[in-house]
Amino acid sequence: MKVFILGLDGATFDILNPLMRDNVIPNITELCSNGTSAPLRTIFPPVTAPAWLALASGLNPGKTGIFDYINKIRTESNTFAPISSSYYKERAVWDYLGNQGYKVGIFNYPTLWPPPHVNGFAVSGMGGKSGNMCYPPELEAELHEATSGYESKLNLRNPKYKRDIDLFFEDINRIIKKQASALQYLVQSKTWDFFFAVFSFTDWMGHVLWKDIDEKHSLYDSMKSPRVKNRFKETWRNIDEVIGTLLSALPHNTNFISVSDHGMGPLESVFFPNTWLERKGWLKRRRLGWKKLFVENMTLFSEGSDNKYFNWLVRFLRNKLLKIKGTIDLIDFDHSFAYSPEHNTMFGCINLTKTGKSANGFKDLLIEAIKALPKTVKGVEQVDIFLPEEIYSGQFVNLSPDILFIVNDYKCTVEIDLHKKEFRTSPSLLMRTGGHQPDGIFIASGSVFNKMKIPQASVLDICPTVLSLYDLDIPSQIDGRVITEAIKPEVLDTLKLNIRPSRETSVQQTDEMGEENLEDMKKLLKSLGYM
Ligand SMILES: [Zn+2]
Repeated sequence: MKVFILGLDGATFDILNPLMRDNVIPNITELCSNGTSAPLRTIFPPVTAPAWLALASGLNPGKTGIFDYINKIRTESNTFAPISSSYYKERAVWDYLGNQGYKVGIFNYPTLWPPPHVNGFAVSGMGGKSGNMCYPPELEAELHEATSGYESKLNLRNPKYKRDIDLFFEDINRIIKKQASALQYLVQSKTWDFFFAVFSFTDWMGHVLWKDIDEKHSLYDSMKSPRVKNRFKETWRNIDEVIGTLLSALPHNTNFISVSDHGMGPLESVFFPNTWLERKGWLKRRRLGWKKLFVENMTLFSEGSDNKYFNWLVRFLRNKLLKIKGTIDLIDFDHSFAYSPEHNTMFGCINLTKTGKSANGFKDLLIEAIKALPKTVKGVEQVDIFLPEEIYSGQFVNLSPDILFIVNDYKCTVEIDLHKKEFRTSPSLLMRTGGHQPDGIFIASGSVFNKMKIPQASVLDICPTVLSLYDLDIPSQIDGRVITEAIKPEVLDTLKLNIRPSRETSVQQTDEMGEENLEDMKKLLKSLGYM
């Protein structure tokens, strides 16, 4: 028995169901009708980096300390480090299997960099750096050879796509081909008992094309969008063909599972919590003397302007003059009570400063004020608050942002800029009109799986379910469960389903990744429109 997992980043039944009805994706349709399928609920926040880690490990963010791409590494300090493969070590499904002698293959796994030394081979995904993408290292040259130049990323903010969306389709279809032939090469030429591959382009398509595929989106253009939607469908047809070719290349006894790290839906607006906190008097700017006065006037001047080049110039001069790299450098932490740190824009988060923490009752006051946003900020219709002590468990809960929240049911991004209004009634980037939603996909097809639809599974369930299929004990710290209803009763009868008491493998929170990697991660996030 082998298990092959194909991750389709950001895939959702909201997109797949209509494509299945229109017979655009026959291979995926067949997988669904021959197997078990369910919406796959992700962790909070529904962000790629913590979600894929939760999926590989079965651990909630309170146990991994990973809530976002960039995470606090100590409770007391404001030191942040990017996620890396060290957070996966000895707790990912491929490590449990590799330790039992199974050969594992990993392809294009997001943020799994540097490539881990597994019992098999690994290719880093998003965040991987060329020259150090693969384990064993010589695999990188093989991939280049097999694909005539391996490619795995796109700069979604490249202005050429805004000018001509056909260039986006051209690039994405080229990458689909490259990724498909790399995967095909690995599946056929390497030895493996367990394989976990991830395609990221499904996520990019959702982010960039949502306004054109969703007739209800405020930026849907009845003249231009239908053509874009057709190209979107064609591209999904290509992806489905890739899946069909992959399925026919898999050994006969392979059980195939497709998962996603989160769903996808429309983005319609932006909320700026730092601007709001400043108005409430809970956030103060640094005093910068005459420079500050000059810059403030300049910024006021630019707020009245819609000219983006002028606004860019103002920002550039401001940053040069004040020697600031971003909004966070503008904040006077000693005199502020709370602020929103740099984070993925898919959710909101606020940290209390030392002053805020020591002010009696401030946190409750702040929570009440966030709850009241629909009454106090025009455009905010709904706010949902998630407190770390209520949604996480484990030794790293205290590394979480103090207050997490979402605005307008995930349809509103939350951005940290200080020089803008509190609320904006359109997405901040025209090339980012789709955002993350909590429900992804779970499709499992093969000799061990039932044919049925089940109400829901969780990303935390994937690791323990795979371990049980290989009849391995499940480490007790794992938060997920075995999706028993997906497994045929006669197969289930033969499995031990044992929980193994185990010490929690805790990764030392570390800043070894250093300034340079932190900056690289920020650059990457900006290129994807995540920051
Ligand atoms: Zn994702």
